Amino acid sequence: MSESAVATTLEEIQENLYAVQGRINAAANRVGRDPRDVRLIPVTKTVAEQRLRTAYQAGIHTFGENKVQEAHQKYQAMNDLEITWCIIGPLQSNKTRDVAEFADEFHALDRVKIARRLHDQLTEAGRDLAVLIQVNTSGETTKSGLDPAELGPFVDQIQDFTALRVNGLMTIAENSDDEDAIRNNFRQLRALRDEHRDQLGAGDLSMGMSADFEIAIEEGATMVRIGSAIFGARPPHGSAQD
Ligand SMILES: *Cc1c(COP(=O)(O)O)cnc(C)c1O
Repeated sequence: MSESAVATTLEEIQENLYAVQGRINAAANRVGRDPRDVRLIPVTKTVAEQRLRTAYQAGIHTFGENKVQEAHQKYQAMNDLEITWCIIGPLQSNKTRDVAEFADEFHALDRVKIARRLHDQLTEAGRDLAVLIQVNTSGETTKSGLDPAELGPFVDQIQDFTALRVNGLMTIAENSDDEDAIRNNFRQLRALRDEHRDQLGAGDLSMGMSADFEIAIEEGATMVRIGSAIFGARPPHGSAQD
């Protein structure tokens, strides 16, 4: 089926998943990397419960969500399943408590205030959270993330928040057909990771989405966040579908 067609059945989701995994493997092999060093984070935003249960059957046990409220509702509806929950979008401070309650990973940390609240609430809950710091490598004003020059001071400022396991960096490349520009965004993230390697735990690089994950893998991605190439096109206004 075509990349944009909505995948609903087990067979359709599985077929897309195999195709994506094949492309991940090929991209890794092209640059001499072990494909097992690239973790697929399926992005399940706007996909409703029934399709997610089918996806779970297809072997998708990590759900990437960009909106906390939607993710939290899904978590409550599907707490009979063993799911790794990754919040990949920016957080409002009134949503940190929900994240502290159920999320396993947060890929979009870029504010000290949010880090502090998460640390306090996680500590209260007796939990911890893997976090990636989001950097705005494209310079697009619509994108969240730190300015690259802010990364060093930011890492220092969140050092004491021990309930956060700082494991690396995340970026969203510029929205463009210019492959070189996209590649440069990913290269910059990798260079920042190398520069601050000692303070970034596992040193993960969460970069690459459906349109650009192969470039990201060539540039060192250890996590790729892929939605539409697995589940098909999303509704234009981000409402839950089925
Ligand atoms: C939606 C989203 C993705 C996945 O996008 P696709 O183009 O559907 O693969 C990845 N990362 C973030 C932060 C997102 O919000």
